[in-house]
Amino acid sequence: MQDSHPESTADYRVAHDPDPLELRRAIGDHLPDDGETAEEIMAHLTAAAAPGLVDTTGPRYFGFVVGGALPASVAADHWTTSHDQAAGFYVLSPASAVIEGIVSDWALDLLDLPRSAAVGFVTGGQMANVLGLASARHQLLARVGWDVAASGLNGAPELRVLIGEEAHGTIDRALALLGIGNATAIRVPTDGQGRMQPTDLERLLRERSLPTAVCAQAGNVNTGSFDPLRAIGELCREHDAWLHIDGAFGLWARACASTCELADGAELASSWGVDAHKWLNATYDCGLAIVREPSHLFSAMDYQGSYLVKSADTGRREPCHYTPESSRRARATPVYAALRELGRSGLDDLVARCCSHARLFARLLQEGGAKIANDVVLNQVLVGFAPPSGRAATPFIDAIIARIQKDGTCWLGGTSWRGERLMRISVSNWQTRESDVIRSVNAILHCVQAEVERGS
Ligand SMILES: *Cc1c(COP(=O)(O)O)cnc(C)c1O
Repeated sequence: MQDSHPESTADYRVAHDPDPLELRRAIGDHLPDDGETAEEIMAHLTAAAAPGLVDTTGPRYFGFVVGGALPASVAADHWTTSHDQAAGFYVLSPASAVIEGIVSDWALDLLDLPRSAAVGFVTGGQMANVLGLASARHQLLARVGWDVAASGLNGAPELRVLIGEEAHGTIDRALALLGIGNATAIRVPTDGQGRMQPTDLERLLRERSLPTAVCAQAGNVNTGSFDPLRAIGELCREHDAWLHIDGAFGLWARACASTCELADGAELASSWGVDAHKWLNATYDCGLAIVREPSHLFSAMDYQGSYLVKSADTGRREPCHYTPESSRRARATPVYAALRELGRSGLDDLVARCCSHARLFARLLQEGGAKIANDVVLNQVLVGFAPPSGRAATPFIDAIIARIQKDGTCWLGGTSWRGERLMRISVSNWQTRESDVIRSVNAILHCVQAEVERGS
């Protein structure tokens, strides 16, 4: 892995900016009449697609929240694919089903969530949120005598959904997909870091008594902040509301001694979503949908195949009962390898290291004249630069970001936070070293300087 990494070559850039039409032409516009060999295809693909690859596995990719790919995870992914394992059914791949069970136990242990919870292996945080909220929908309606799987939502009793003002976009989409609707969700006010305010939540919960799901967040995608999960969890218990926590990357804070306090109280929820392909640095794609009461997940995912036996009947894990898919890839296997490669202490260290790099970014950029717009509590840093007089703030920041991306030393993107355009840095890669942070800061400040000079 390390040896083949192109980072040391002179023309290395994290990402290029290819013309999509040229890229398409190079990769191949037309389907050949006669087949080609695997060797030919791979030689062609390797050369032709290169300008369209983004080195997100490298140590200086700080866009979105992406994470890299641990070597063992990459190897296990290749291995799984080379055996083309279909993980939907135990008999199709006993090893894959057993590995899912193992990863499920390890994840619950590392995240310190109820050890009897059910874990479904889905494509990512998006689908983990869908499964958590699907379980909520099923269970909340069952409590008032409505079988949503059989009868759908036409004529169903009213469901109330409360989400934070800064909930991730995947929550809106989950609500849309589930027929609950995202415009009907009530948005609970948040503070300057994007944290849901428990006093507002309490007021809303008291307003009316309805079957209610609350969606809280562990790790805001911009600020990295956590909703006050213990207070929210206690309120949800008091009001008999289902609490789902979107912890796509932030929930891993619970696996690290220096950050676990941030997600204190998360164990009170009814369901959780967390990614393996982001901060855990497993390969794409894998997210974990975790539901406290396994029967709540199984009822929501109920699958009536005549050839299926329930896990309880055989002691076997039957993976298709945990997710909405039938046939699918064995996506827990690369996660198994990632967890083994890190070990308990390696995961603690990965999380702590990324947070410490984020603080270093903030300090060095601030010393270089930047304004840090968030409290850097985790691995996310929001960065602003005051424009020279006479220049508008948003185009100034966007021009700097474009320069940084073109320079190629590192890659970061922009975001809008509370009406302001900012640069966003996410440190979530296992390979990032302090020297990468320093080198990136120098490149960023150089781009800022160049943009200031351009305008003068
Ligand atoms: C990334 C992210 C998601 C979505 O996860 P995917 O793996 O991209 O589907 C949801 N919530 C938060 C807070 C995220 O950061």
